[in-house]
Amino acid sequence: MPEEPLPHPITGQPFGSPVAPGAGWPGDPADAKTPVAEDAADVAHLAAAASDIAELDARITVCRACPRLIAWREDVAIQKRKSYAAQPYWGRPAAGFGDAHPQTLIVGLAPAAHGANRTGRMFTGDRSGDWLYAALHRAGYANQPDATHAGDGLHLTGLRIVAAVRCAPPDNKPTTLEKATCAPWLDRELQLAAPTLRSILALGSIGWDATLAAARRLGWDVPSPKPRFGHATIAEIRCGTRTIRLVGSYHVSQQNTFTGKLTEQMLDDAFALLRP
Ligand code: SF4
Repeated sequence: MPEEPLPHPITGQPFGSPVAPGAGWPGDPADAKTPVAEDAADVAHLAAAASDIAELDARITVCRACPRLIAWREDVAIQKRKSYAAQPYWGRPAAGFGDAHPQTLIVGLAPAAHGANRTGRMFTGDRSGDWLYAALHRAGYANQPDATHAGDGLHLTGLRIVAAVRCAPPDNKPTTLEKATCAPWLDRELQLAAPTLRSILALGSIGWDATLAAARRLGWDVPSPKPRFGHATIAEIRCGTRTIRLVGSYHVSQQNTFTGKLTEQMLDDAFALLRP
C-alpha cells in the first residue's frame, strides 16, 4: 500500500510511494487501465503487442513480473534514503526516456534505487545521471545539462535512453532469470526504433550483451563470434539493408567516474563514435 502522500519536489502535488499509475506524476505514461504483466509470458505478449513507444512505456511502468525486484523497489520507495525522506518515490519500473523516433539509443543496466526508482526517469537524480546528461548536453542531444527530477524541463532530441532491466535490483545485480524476463521490453524498444535507428551506445558489458542478444532475437545480423565489450569498441549490426553501429562505453557509475576509469573526455569520445 502507498504510504502517506508527500509533495513532488517540482510540482508540489502529493503522492504516495510507490506512485499509483495515472496519479499525475510528471511523465507517467500509464493509468489504471494499463495492462499489467504478471509473469514472463505476459511480458513477452504485452511487449510484442505494444503498437508504439507510448504504449510500450505505459506497459513497462506497471510491470509486476519479477517478485524479488517488486519487493525491493517498493521497499526502497517506502524506506527511502534519509536525504530524500520528505520526497515521494516512484517505486515502479522506469520506462525509456527521450525521443520516440531516435537515431541513437543508449542501453544502460537498470534504474538506481535512489535515482530513477525515486524520480521515475532514467539516470535522473543521481551522480551517474549528472555525468551522462552533462555529456549528452555537450554532444547536443540534451537541452540542459542537469537532470534532477521528472518535470524539470529536460528534453532529448534524436536519442533515447533505455535499460536491459527496468526495475532497480539489489546491489545493481539482476539475476539471470530477471534479465531474461525483462528482455522482451528491450526487444520491442529496438524493433520500434529500427526505422530511424543508426547507432547504439551500450553502457557497460551488461548493456552490450543485452543489446547484441536482443538484436539476435530480432533476426538482425550480429557478428560471430560475439564482439567483446570494451570502451570505444565498435561492432556493426545489420538490420535489413542498413548498418547500426554499436559502441561500447564504460558505465557512468561512480565506481568508474570517481576512480578515473571513465573520464569526461573518454565519454565524449565514445559519443563522437556514434556519428561516423
Ligand atoms: S525487471 Fe522488467 S520484467 Fe521484471 S518486473 Fe521489472 S519491468 Fe517487469
